Amino acid sequence: MAFEDIPGQDDTARRLRATLQRDRLPHAFLFVGSTGTGRAAMARELAQVVLCEGKDRPDDCCGRCDSCLLFARGAHPDYGEVGLPEGRQSLPIKTIRRVQRSAALKPVRAARRVFVIRDVERMSIEAANCFLKTLEEPPGRCFFVLIASSLRRLPETIVSRCRVVRFANLALEVLQRRLEADGVQPDDARWLARRAWGSPGLADGLKEADLHAFNRELVERLRELSVDDNFTLSDWFSRKATENAVSAAESRDALQELLECVAAYYRDLALSAAGGTDPAEPFNGAPEDGITEPAAGVPPDAFVERAELVLEAIERIGGNAQRRLALDDLFTQLGWLSRGAT
Ligand SMILES: [Zn+2]
Repeated sequence: MAFEDIPGQDDTARRLRATLQRDRLPHAFLFVGSTGTGRAAMARELAQVVLCEGKDRPDDCCGRCDSCLLFARGAHPDYGEVGLPEGRQSLPIKTIRRVQRSAALKPVRAARRVFVIRDVERMSIEAANCFLKTLEEPPGRCFFVLIASSLRRLPETIVSRCRVVRFANLALEVLQRRLEADGVQPDDARWLARRAWGSPGLADGLKEADLHAFNRELVERLRELSVDDNFTLSDWFSRKATENAVSAAESRDALQELLECVAAYYRDLALSAAGGTDPAEPFNGAPEDGITEPAAGVPPDAFVERAELVLEAIERIGGNAQRRLALDDLFTQLGWLSRGAT
């Protein structure tokens, strides 16, 4: 395996190689990107290169030395990796303390000890404060790779002490092909890749929720939307959102995801009314997804206004507003606005 084997991350691979060639490794990297973009695989590859004892060049491991063999068996004494424990919502302080204790020890065989910490955005506040001390005064011969899905959820004090490396989402065709290789039907794969903006983790989640099938039915219903539909639609959305959710937070996230489909529908109509030259193709652009021709003479702004109403509702629901009330409001307003158009 080499850095370049991780699909869609050629820029990151180049940057890491340049850092290794110049021998300018920071104390800590922070790999940021969505789930499935190869952050952990890249971190492990980097760890193996750093620990390798037989390399011919500074940016590749040999794959044959004792260190490489130990690493491949998951038994290298100078390597540690932690992440969110099974079934937990946050990375507990005791996990971080374990890393710190280990980081304070001298390396057993390599020049330094290497730690990969996944799910860093899920660190509890205590854990983050505790880990900050390690980043402020890193123990001599240690190297950390932190992995997070977004910088927004991390304390600035942690981010500022790491060298940030961003992992791009995949090109839509690359993700589409990957989904097809996993057995997803081509038209589903195309829609999912677009809807997830190339994020493999998000696409997997949407696939589980069978969101494409939901979207098809949604488009049918929105096309015929009238004021009288408001409560029927609210019912339908509430039911769908709670169907597979095991907690209130999960059903809230699911509801927001479903409403994103409504926003995307109006966004597509706005694009279509405006002549549709946006480089991001409409989600509902495939014939089987039934993009509608907007009623003649309806200006793009009319659809933008509806998309904005949906985004407001999504925000209200995120802010813990009464969900049912937010849904009833939204569909009543959309119903009124849709009279005689689309
Ligand atoms: Zn080696």
